[in-house]
Amino acid sequence: MEDLDPRFVRADSKWLARHRVEPGGAVDLASIPSVGGRKLDKKSARKAYRRSVRKLSELQEKFYADGRFAMLVVFQAMDAGGKDSTIRNVLGPLNPQGCRVSSFKVPHSEEAAHDYLWRIHRAAPARGMIGVFNRSHYEDVLVVRVKNLVEEERWRRRYEHINQFEKMLSDEGTVIVKFFLHISNEYQRKRLQRRLDRPDKHWKFSPADLAERARWPKYTEAFEEALARCSTPHAPWHIIPAENRWYRNLAVARILLATMRKLDLSYPEVTFDPSEIKLT
Ligand code: ADP
Repeated sequence: MEDLDPRFVRADSKWLARHRVEPGGAVDLASIPSVGGRKLDKKSARKAYRRSVRKLSELQEKFYADGRFAMLVVFQAMDAGGKDSTIRNVLGPLNPQGCRVSSFKVPHSEEAAHDYLWRIHRAAPARGMIGVFNRSHYEDVLVVRVKNLVEEERWRRRYEHINQFEKMLSDEGTVIVKFFLHISNEYQRKRLQRRLDRPDKHWKFSPADLAERARWPKYTEAFEEALARCSTPHAPWHIIPAENRWYRNLAVARILLATMRKLDLSYPEVTFDPSEIKLT
């Protein structure tokens, strides 16, 4: 029996479906709420989130011992959407030996000299490991599209490449879960303003953020197409209302927990009889 506060007892399947982008459907971000948990009590939600993270951390050990699967967790968002904070809150408490975060920035020269999936594949998690992507191969149909870094004919082909690549990873044992942290334009303005107002946040601000912010409509269009075309049964996208951080953390933790529970993990059989071993 689930041991969460009864108000948060939802079947795993409900959490899995709640924010998932249905394969083949269209995505209209303006019609999807960016504030979550309006009907929930914040204090109980926080408690439920902490329990979920604890359970996730317990299951991580079994996931590692089972060794049949890898798990890839992808985070994408508009600037100031809360990727870093979500990763810290939900995945930070896991055993660092079984979890690796990769952040994808502007490709450096060796990366740029290869195809765009080269650096991604190199960072893909090994069996038993959880790989977390802070930005990902989706940048190659987001920033690359918005800033015309390659011609349209070239980035248009990438949706298909990405679906095929993710299918291959999935067929070979990688469980893929993708999160888009959804915020409004006004919320982004407030978060960027906070970076200007607080001396301890100045380092997070760059004047280039303003140019990116001006491209909000173009990024929205690019996200909508990526979310719609690349949400597949083997690698679903979830659109998480991210403006209430406590709801965002709860939703991401519950979706990861539900995904892991579906795997029916087991400890490997041992080749010795523990009762016959006498320690001296
Ligand atoms: P973050 O915003 O994730 O905390 P940075 O401020 O260093 O980290 O931003 C990373 C930058 O790298 C972003 O502007 C992102 O669009 C850019 N980037 C990531 N992948 C690519 C790519 N494949 N091509 C061009 N730019 C990229």
